[in-house]
Amino acid sequence: MSVRSSRTLRSTLAGWLVLSGVIGCGSVPWKSATPRPAPPAEVRNPVAIGPAEKRPSVHATRVGRYVFHTDFEFDTHSALLRELEELPDQIEAELRVPASDSLIQIYLFDREDKYHAFLRAKDPKLPLRSAYFFAEPGRGLGSPPELHVYTWMSDRLRVDLRHELAHALLHGTLKTVPLWLDEGLAGYFEQPPTNGGVNAAHLEALRAPESGGRFRPDLARLEKLKSVDQMGRPEYQEAWAWVHFMLHADANTRQVLLNHLQALRTTATPGLLLPKLEAAVGDVNPLLAAHLTRLDQSGKVRHAGR
Ligand SMILES: [Zn+2]
Repeated sequence: MSVRSSRTLRSTLAGWLVLSGVIGCGSVPWKSATPRPAPPAEVRNPVAIGPAEKRPSVHATRVGRYVFHTDFEFDTHSALLRELEELPDQIEAELRVPASDSLIQIYLFDREDKYHAFLRAKDPKLPLRSAYFFAEPGRGLGSPPELHVYTWMSDRLRVDLRHELAHALLHGTLKTVPLWLDEGLAGYFEQPPTNGGVNAAHLEALRAPESGGRFRPDLARLEKLKSVDQMGRPEYQEAWAWVHFMLHADANTRQVLLNHLQALRTTATPGLLLPKLEAAVGDVNPLLAAHLTRLDQSGKVRHAGR
């Protein structure tokens, strides 16, 4: 998820609480991560005081564009690492945006309680999400933001790392990433490459009987969202749906998204995407509905995992 100003941080945190659970992301671009006064000691969570608040620092292992910081011996030959090493190339190949050369620092805790203690020390208001991406301010004047990911060795490590690293890689190369598009792309790339970007959980929710098949996409509304507390689970699902639709419906929809991303390499104000999409393919909502129906009937979703 993305936050666009420090003004919205408090309400954003409330939003994170609402969003915790299946949609487990905390993406904090640097504008929202500006230093804030430390809370008085008496209101700090005592769990956060002491050695537990330290982030992993015993081992620093470089793997491709990532540096894994751990307090345990780190297996550099795992299949997961090989897959993560290919993520920048996958993003570059699918989105036609060159990956940034910036190293991404990944702080990987061995236990959940240590990770939670660190989060509490970092900011007591942070919801205890399973993974976080922070774009910290660069250390020198004009320096690019430092890209940090924090998580622990949970059973959803693969999805969490792919999701947060997608945020980090995009923020490392684009001037900005619009909120809805940031989460739509992260929801797309969190899936293993063999899934073709099909996010089974999102697709199943959009097609769920309880929605009565009455999913009403509204990209104009999505593009207006400015803070993450405006984004609930349905918005995450819809954001993924638009990304998958544009990348896979046909050459025209794909080109509209690729052009939009190219514009974001040089400007933070590329204009709205929906008018460009409508100019290219006409009325988009029926096309999106048809795309989701095709996906649902393809059988792919049944093999796509979580
Ligand atoms: Zn996210």
